[in-house]
Amino acid sequence: MRHLTCAAAVVVLAVSSCGDRVAVPSPQPPEELFTGARVIVGDGQVIEAGAFLVRANQIVEVGTVDEITASPDTRVTDLTGQTVMPALVNTHAHLGWEAYTGWGSEQFTRQNLIDHLYRHAYYGVGTIISTGSDIEEIALDVQQAQRLSQVDGAHYLVSPGLGTPGGGPNPRFTDDAGWWGVHEATGPDEARAIVRAEADRGIQILKIWVDARDERRGAQVKLRPDIYAAILDEAQVRDIRVIAHATTLEDHKRLLEVGARRFIHMPYDVDVDEEYLALVEARNAYIVPTLGMVTRGEPFRRPVFEDAFFQEQVSDEVITALRDAAAGNPVPAQPVSAAAEARARVIRDNFARLQDRIILGTDAGAVGDFFGYADHLELELFVRLGMTPSQAIVAATTRAARAFGLTDAGSIEAGKRADFLVLDANPLDDIMHTREIAAVYLRGKKVDREALRARWQSQPGSGPVDQRPAP
Ligand SMILES: [Zn+2]
Repeated sequence: MRHLTCAAAVVVLAVSSCGDRVAVPSPQPPEELFTGARVIVGDGQVIEAGAFLVRANQIVEVGTVDEITASPDTRVTDLTGQTVMPALVNTHAHLGWEAYTGWGSEQFTRQNLIDHLYRHAYYGVGTIISTGSDIEEIALDVQQAQRLSQVDGAHYLVSPGLGTPGGGPNPRFTDDAGWWGVHEATGPDEARAIVRAEADRGIQILKIWVDARDERRGAQVKLRPDIYAAILDEAQVRDIRVIAHATTLEDHKRLLEVGARRFIHMPYDVDVDEEYLALVEARNAYIVPTLGMVTRGEPFRRPVFEDAFFQEQVSDEVITALRDAAAGNPVPAQPVSAAAEARARVIRDNFARLQDRIILGTDAGAVGDFFGYADHLELELFVRLGMTPSQAIVAATTRAARAFGLTDAGSIEAGKRADFLVLDANPLDDIMHTREIAAVYLRGKKVDREALRARWQSQPGSGPVDQRPAP
């Protein structure tokens, strides 16, 4: 990458007639032209020899190198031979608890939350939705600071959780002595009141849990259809997007019937049927399969601590700790059991039938998958399960943004935030090439990946080695 010209000035020094120097604000905000790269737009289109103009934090023009011209003041970055794709949009993760290598509620600090935004940014994730496990006071504070340009990293969207008493996230969270609980509703009126209160706080995304595991561990009852119908209804009035955690075909259908449009997890229990697929189409619904979390198959069977792409973000001490932990917690050889085989087959087939509805989400931070890095593993799984690399990128960018009405993210188009990756290899040829990251830009600013790497590689990690659960 070369900077052919570098003339964008914030302040122009003019010389007045009597010789005094006067500072005059530049009439135009700084502009940067990125030219020559193959541009993967994010919606399936590709511009070979593309160019796009970034002004302040936004993309303002996109086309071919011949179509987009720069004014003399424009800084020009030549990306000939490289590929640009939109930054990823991750719709399901749990920020704040992971501390490389300790994990728990005591790790949830403003500083750690911000660190996780940087970790996503490092790996090319431009937008991150943290679902149902953040301390809201801290989360809202960080979200606001980022809106004021005081915090960089991936664009952060907090999604508090609403469930039944005793229900909510997986037991890893709820068993933690410091767990602060979910917003609990025992009836429709209470649920509506919670949605209104969250809207008043500026919350735009809410998570709900509809899961039998809640009953098994002492919830009064699985979140009832009349309660989640009230939540969905009130949320629509308040312009809040609801994302529902549900893992069975029956729960998905009941939720779709009352207006749910976003799902964490696919039906994993049985094959989806025509009735379900019709409901999904009718609702224009989106599914976050979190394949890494449920399959624990390749590529998750490769030890992350041996992967150079992972090692970039941790110290030798953390790598050693993870290696030692894995030695005491070996991954069983496949096939694990006939039941696991059958479930894997259902997941494969359901994924294939829902392919056009799939969006990116990793569950990272909850089950031992690592921020940003896990996004690339999920892309790899999308392709292993039948998507083309182009389809996988659409699922992880434009479609994920559209699912949450994020009109300023997900593609290389005029009017979007200038969030993109510069790659040294073409991911349309091989999805593994999303890892060949030359640079990441968020809001038009180059992420200082070298500085982040240096910081993380010198951090010893925060505590005792976490014994990650076996798959
Ligand atoms: Zn989750």
